[in-house]
Amino acid sequence: MIEIKEHVPLASLTTFEIGGNARYFAEAKNENDIQDAMSWAKEHGKPYIILAGGSNVLVPDEGIEGLVINIVSQKFDISETGVHAEAGCNLLQLIRSAADAGLGGWEKLGGIPGTIGGAVRGNAGAFGPEIKDFVTWVRALDVSTGEIREFSNPECEFSYRMSHFKKHPELIIFDIHLQLQKMNSAESHHHIEETIQDRERRHIQNVRAAGSFFMNPVVPDPIREMFEKEKQVKSREGRVPAGWLIEKAGMKGARVGGAEASVQHPNYLVNADEATESEVKELAEQIRKAVFEKFGVTLTEEAVVW
Ligand SMILES: Cc1cc2nc3c(=O)[nH]c(=O)nc-3n(C[C@H](O)[C@H](O)[C@H](O)COP(=O)(O)OP(=O)(O)OC[C@H]3O[C@@H](n4cnc5c(N)ncnc54)[C@H](O)[C@@H]3O)c2cc1C
Repeated sequence: MIEIKEHVPLASLTTFEIGGNARYFAEAKNENDIQDAMSWAKEHGKPYIILAGGSNVLVPDEGIEGLVINIVSQKFDISETGVHAEAGCNLLQLIRSAADAGLGGWEKLGGIPGTIGGAVRGNAGAFGPEIKDFVTWVRALDVSTGEIREFSNPECEFSYRMSHFKKHPELIIFDIHLQLQKMNSAESHHHIEETIQDRERRHIQNVRAAGSFFMNPVVPDPIREMFEKEKQVKSREGRVPAGWLIEKAGMKGARVGGAEASVQHPNYLVNADEATESEVKELAEQIRKAVFEKFGVTLTEEAVVW
């Protein structure tokens, strides 16, 4: 039976390093552990929440009253054409292991923190490619029925930072199969390291944050045209970077307590100095208001505010 711990600090399990304790906490090393933890929550009438790599969540200052299930499954297999991985596998480690085996094509995703399960749920992407471009199928537990279901790529309903799993929190991703291309191993590793260096240069790596706090919104044509003219780039899917809107709304570098809208990357709300969850939320609210007043555009969170 899975061990249920009590009063476990959560801040150190997240990249924000913010938030209180989990009243109950279980580390799930495989799908049996996840099912055991779910049974415990049901039996004890406790709500549950899934935590994986903790790179896209903001934990409340008062902590979580229910059971936090931390997915730490680590097994993966590499075949001639792809990777089959448990949800808790670290994404960068998988990309590097695939490169060792001469498989690649997804190097630009190198450096996105967190797990492959978290990446699939949020259709993580960077510099063009998204995880959806590589997923063949996903297996998940449907907590509402107890059934384990397999989803083909189209059934995952991927779109920009969105998936069927994000719309259906009753689904817990167990494992994923990804199809990759044959690649020269050294070339693939070179490409990965180049990507990580590029991320470091842009100050989007190793930051006490949850990555981009807001999604890039679809905006009215005049705003899109203003962005394209100023930056001399074509917008993707009619979206403009939330960071650009935040900067234009005068909120770059804005601060509430220890929380700051990064100067290098205004869509990164960073824990600059012992920030609390309420300070991050207050800063997010002020940014949302400023962007709405300036552009009439509503920003929605990409980070998961628990
Ligand atoms: C410095 C930094 C840079 C970043 N750069 C990028 C980037 O370039 N591109 C990008 O897309 N994102 C980026 N992010 C955001 C983040 O890394 C991704 O969203 C990542 O995929 C989240 O994975 P995770 O394992 O950390 O998920 P967590 O933060 O642990 O969880 C996120 C959400 O997914 C749910 N979840 C996690 N695992 C499962 C599962 N197995 N089944 C069901 N639900 C699950 C959780 O309940 C939670 O709601 C960045 C974050 C940081 C801190």
